[in-house]
Amino acid sequence: MAFTTKKQFIAGVTCPKCAEMDKIQAYTEGGVNYRECVSCGFKDEMRLASTPRELQTRVNTDAAEIANQTQPVRLVDPKAQ
Ligand SMILES: [Zn+2]
Repeated sequence: MAFTTKKQFIAGVTCPKCAEMDKIQAYTEGGVNYRECVSCGFKDEMRLASTPRELQTRVNTDAAEIANQTQPVRLVDPKAQ
């Protein structure tokens, strides 16, 4: 999800303070992502800027590690027999 300086509602997000749903707006200010509740005035800094990339990298790494771990086992077994 890409945030802009323009405030936009995040659908399906519940405010952690007043528990109202669909009241959270997200926007970027000075390179920092904020979420703000229009219902109770709750405001919080979000550190999501690099999270999607990190998650993707982690998933890719895990998949590669699993593939690397699986292949040697399959190769070793036939040789051992
Ligand atoms: Zn709220």
